Amino acid sequence: MIKIGCHLSVSKGYLAMAKTAVSINADTFQFFTRNPRGGKAKAIDVEDIESFKSFAAENGIDRVLAHAPYTLNACSPDERVREFAFTAMTEDLARMEYIPGQLYNFHPGSHVGQGREKGIELIAELLNRVLYPEMTTTVLLETMAGKGSEVGAEFEELRAIIDRTELSDKLGVCLDTCHVYDAGYDIVNDLESVLEEFDRVVGLDRLKAVHINDSKNPIGSHKDRHERIGEGYIGIEAFERIINEPHLNRLPFYLETPNELEGYAKEIELLHDLSR
Ligand code: FE
Ligand code: FE
Ligand code: ZN
Repeated sequence: MIKIGCHLSVSKGYLAMAKTAVSINADTFQFFTRNPRGGKAKAIDVEDIESFKSFAAENGIDRVLAHAPYTLNACSPDERVREFAFTAMTEDLARMEYIPGQLYNFHPGSHVGQGREKGIELIAELLNRVLYPEMTTTVLLETMAGKGSEVGAEFEELRAIIDRTELSDKLGVCLDTCHVYDAGYDIVNDLESVLEEFDRVVGLDRLKAVHINDSKNPIGSHKDRHERIGEGYIGIEAFERIINEPHLNRLPFYLETPNELEGYAKEIELLHDLSR
């Protein structure tokens, strides 16, 4: 049985998200740690966290994925932007410890003309400032579409970031199906080769979560426009193979498709039906 959920809004708190997840038959969920465009995070409500924990335990939710804001850019040429990345990630990781042992995903960043090497160096520099030995959260680098100057569209770039990070045992990867397809990896016709390449370069043991999205654009387009499951270039047959692939089917899947709750409920049902 695969674990599948979708992106939910954190605005009403953790318990509310878990209840919403259960109402659409999700076994897990993803949420932004704060407004996706940036800004301050709401104060942690300890009572909400405690009710969330017992509700989640009763309803079989043992995995959640927090997503850093999109504005977080660890390798911006602007030092203030890099400092926001440092502050936001430090705060987020402290808050994550209220729910120990979970996942925190971020977009590695855009180097904006400084070049890939410099980008990789700055991303690792941030990770070396924010990761600490006692933390229980696993920080995930998301595979990117390669839009603009995004770092992380090639597996080698993720490897390079991991190699430069001292506490690299705290790092994992979240594979976004729309992004890797847009980046040029043919998960439609040759999923096994893509996973072999991932294993050779990064290591499949690093893979901790999957963002399951169709793409509005063909392979290699570097556009990053998500589509509903089965309505894009990846297509339903490829998703059937993806969710049943033995290395992937043990990972949590998160929908980030253009949908309201009802649409997510339908996609969750569809994917459960396709799961063997
Ligand atoms: Fe993302
Ligand atoms: Fe994603
Ligand atoms: Zn995306």
